[in-house]
Amino acid sequence: MSTLFQTDSFQNLLSHLASLPCEDSSDFWPAAQLTAMAQAGVTTWDIPPDFAGLDLPPVDMLEGLRQLASASLVATFVLTQRTAAVRRIATSDNTTARQTLLPALCRGDIFATVGISHLTTSGQHLDKPLVGVHETESGFELSGLVPWSTGATQADILVTGGTLDDGRQILTAIPTDRKGLAVQPPMQLMAMNASQTGAVRLDRVQITADEVLHGPIERVMSQGTGGGAGSLGTSALAMGAAGGTLHGMRHETDRRPELLEYVTPLQREHDELLTGLRQAIAGEHPQGAKAGEQIRQQANSLVMRSAQAWLAATKGAGYVAGHPAERAVRESMFFLVWSCPQPVLAANLQEFACPVR
Ligand SMILES: Cc1cc2nc3c(=O)[nH]c(=O)nc-3n(C[C@H](O)[C@H](O)[C@H](O)COP(=O)(O)OP(=O)(O)OC[C@H]3O[C@@H](n4cnc5c(N)ncnc54)[C@H](O)[C@@H]3O)c2cc1C
Repeated sequence: MSTLFQTDSFQNLLSHLASLPCEDSSDFWPAAQLTAMAQAGVTTWDIPPDFAGLDLPPVDMLEGLRQLASASLVATFVLTQRTAAVRRIATSDNTTARQTLLPALCRGDIFATVGISHLTTSGQHLDKPLVGVHETESGFELSGLVPWSTGATQADILVTGGTLDDGRQILTAIPTDRKGLAVQPPMQLMAMNASQTGAVRLDRVQITADEVLHGPIERVMSQGTGGGAGSLGTSALAMGAAGGTLHGMRHETDRRPELLEYVTPLQREHDELLTGLRQAIAGEHPQGAKAGEQIRQQANSLVMRSAQAWLAATKGAGYVAGHPAERAVRESMFFLVWSCPQPVLAANLQEFACPVR
């Protein structure tokens, strides 16, 4: 693993992020956190070297994200949606898009996000695709509703896509000031409100053929475009959130050593799961390809149980709005619904349905 994360400057970044205010409100945007990350070079991590980036190997990328998430979950989540956009651009054959967008993304001069869940998870039970695409003389026209996009309110570029009548799909990078593209006000969420997550309406949005990143092709998201739902990155974030929560709970043990009885096994579980996550990223997990879903399920479980343990330990004071423990409980629920593949969700539901013995 890279020594980058042991450096004083990275550790200072973590302390700085943890100290910055971050309101759980959609009127708030973690601009200071994102600027601090860009200044520390975090926006270079996912960019190919041809465009002045570091293109960190996955093991380092995920370690970095995990540590950042332990200091500021919301800002790191926003960063992952930017990374998801970067990956779709960087893996595209579209040289113009790569040359135009990647240098500015690397410097942190522009912000890009994704609205792609309707191509993988959201609305899959509906008869009609949420975003329809028609071929035009110069390219394509997109209409419909992108149901989820984090930080679209702040984005210069939205990576999204839709489905043609014949079932093929495209992914494209659209400037958010494009005619017909209307970012909806952020939804009021249970937590993570500062991510300014909301829908984006597309009303006959025209794109030229050279704005297409991937496709037209069937199941465009499964075509090596840069990671799908429930990838190990989502587990890294859940592990980071669990680590941050356990850190908070350990503080409580300074005054109340009897709580160590509960923190210690949770910390042990965290450390073992982290070893498994690192093995899976390196392709060395004994469960092989099956490890990813299992780790995400266990990380979901750990982040929720740790947060609830912290809340129980902090008693009524922890239940008062604004206490970090109640916020951790609400934030931990995010992992049940964000980029959560069906088998993981089923396993988490199974755990909820199990009687206590
Ligand atoms: C805070 C947050 C931020 C997010 N940010 C992004 C982002 O930046 N980009 C992005 O692409 N995605 C994002 N997502 C989306 C996320 O990754 C998931 O895709 C999303 O949470 C899936 O939920 P859904 O309600 O869209 O699922 P759906 O499957 O569409 O379910 C919606 C509702 O439909 C009904 N339903 C579901 N299945 C059936 C069925 N078989 N039959 C009948 N009814 C059914 C249920 O009542 C369900 O409540 C975000 C999600 C959250 C919560």
